[in-house]
Amino acid sequence: MSEQIKETKTESATNGAQKPTSPNSDLKLDFASFWEYSTAPESGDFFDLKESYDHFIGGKFVKPVKGRYMKTINPSNEEVIAEFAEGTSEDVDSAVKAARKAYDKEWSKLSGKERGKYIYRLARMIQGRSRELAIVESMDGGKPIRESRDVDIPLAAAYFFYYAGWADKLDYAFPGREAKPLGVCGQIIPWNFPLLMLSWKIAPALAAGNTVVLKPAEATPLTALIFAEICQDAGLPDGVVNIVTGAGQTGAEIVNHPDVNKIAFTGSTKVGKIIQKSLAGTDKKFTLELGGKGANIVFEDAPIDQTVDGIINAIFFNQGHVCCAGSRLLVQEGIADRLIQKLKDRMETLIVGDPLDKNTDVGAINSKMQFDKINEYIEIGKNEGATIHQSSCNLPDSGFFCRPTLFMDVAQSNRIVQEEIFGPVLTIQTFRTPDEAVQKANNTQYGLSGGVWTDKGSKIFKIGSQIRSGVIWSNTFNKFDPTSPFGGYKESGVGREGGLHGLYPYVKLK
Ligand code: NAP
Ligand code: MG
Repeated sequence: MSEQIKETKTESATNGAQKPTSPNSDLKLDFASFWEYSTAPESGDFFDLKESYDHFIGGKFVKPVKGRYMKTINPSNEEVIAEFAEGTSEDVDSAVKAARKAYDKEWSKLSGKERGKYIYRLARMIQGRSRELAIVESMDGGKPIRESRDVDIPLAAAYFFYYAGWADKLDYAFPGREAKPLGVCGQIIPWNFPLLMLSWKIAPALAAGNTVVLKPAEATPLTALIFAEICQDAGLPDGVVNIVTGAGQTGAEIVNHPDVNKIAFTGSTKVGKIIQKSLAGTDKKFTLELGGKGANIVFEDAPIDQTVDGIINAIFFNQGHVCCAGSRLLVQEGIADRLIQKLKDRMETLIVGDPLDKNTDVGAINSKMQFDKINEYIEIGKNEGATIHQSSCNLPDSGFFCRPTLFMDVAQSNRIVQEEIFGPVLTIQTFRTPDEAVQKANNTQYGLSGGVWTDKGSKIFKIGSQIRSGVIWSNTFNKFDPTSPFGGYKESGVGREGGLHGLYPYVKLK
């Protein structure tokens, strides 16, 4: 490693950012210029996207009643990729009617074994179109192709495979009880893991015998619309899956439709509260998967190099657009300086840029709106008196890109410590005792995720059980598995998705 460290006298870093400095000398670590990679862009020339997409209702693509369309852009170059229908109450109503008809006439009457066959087919067809889906996911949402290809799309298929397996085994899932479907499920998903969130919603709903009306986020509707094509190609009975596109108002129309039996929502805590209020007094079931501000706790006995990579994955995976991101680092005081220096060095090796390039580690920020929000938080952090450090990487000239960012010298009460930034921004605090770590970790409105890094198994169990979060990873972070339940405490949500727990919200038990 020492040979790879080049000495440089240059003070002004590329694009105005500071080069990281070794704490013990004035040696500059110029990783970025030492490791230069040729570009390796993934090619999308084997498929064609349509210029315009309609709603998918009753097994067909249908034009929006009011004839209005919105545009989705590629956030890495700000170019329009395609237009898609803007759903109104009329469109939502016809989607709910199609879903009700499919539920009454066909899907709820089908045996679990037959439902399972369809869901397996959907899983296999996602695998069959995985390369196309990965490219479109990266184009529409800005995430690196390495993640779409190796995480989002394989996991989406895995959730379909997993729940396909439950379709004919509901008696085993709920022994001694009879599990009946709920009816029509309204499902609303965010833009950070578009196809994966679709799979978390649609797969268990269908396995349990429900039909669905799903609305993808306006920034990333395309993989859901390709999934609609997959439903057609799979011969899924008409109306079992309906996709209505549009903005927040379209989501609200689904929530408020009187013939919807259950709402499954993933998104911000702010919108989750609005939805919970509008569902009060109705007999609709609901699950809410909301925001987070996960604490990643590092003890002095942690394996430091693996931990540094784990911290990088916890906060910079998907540009930090991750509800369960480890966005608050808590480091035991004795190793803080060493760990932070290693973290800064590792950050210098991250390639920020074209999401379709296979070398890219950190892609584009999903939208202008999110880009502005992150930059606003960076200003808030500076104004709160925190010390900022950003990697000195080159950024593309167009598109929305943000340097991996650290904030040190922060206080527990700072807004950047308390509020979800949803970007590549990590706050760093230190602690002396395990109790102090637990107290700081729990001192937030959220309770979705957390991480513990230590050599001691007993410490993992002790600290893990004291942190009030739905998920705790130990010596790893951001690992997902269809068999494992996921969800939050406090303002991070209500209910669980994934695993057997994820089936429960889609059935009524007799
Ligand atoms: P968001 O603004 O709450 O939007 C989520 C979805 O709800 C989008 O489809 C959105 O449509 C729609 N929507 C907006 N207003 C609505 C309303 N009044 N009624 C019904 N639907 C409405 O969240 P986001 O910015 O897309 O996603 C980021 C958030 O999701 C973060 O807070 C993150 O932590 C959370 N998240 C949580 C989990 C989890 O499992 N806990 C997983 C992923 C993300 P438009 O996009 O068209 O506005
Ligand atoms: Mg887009």
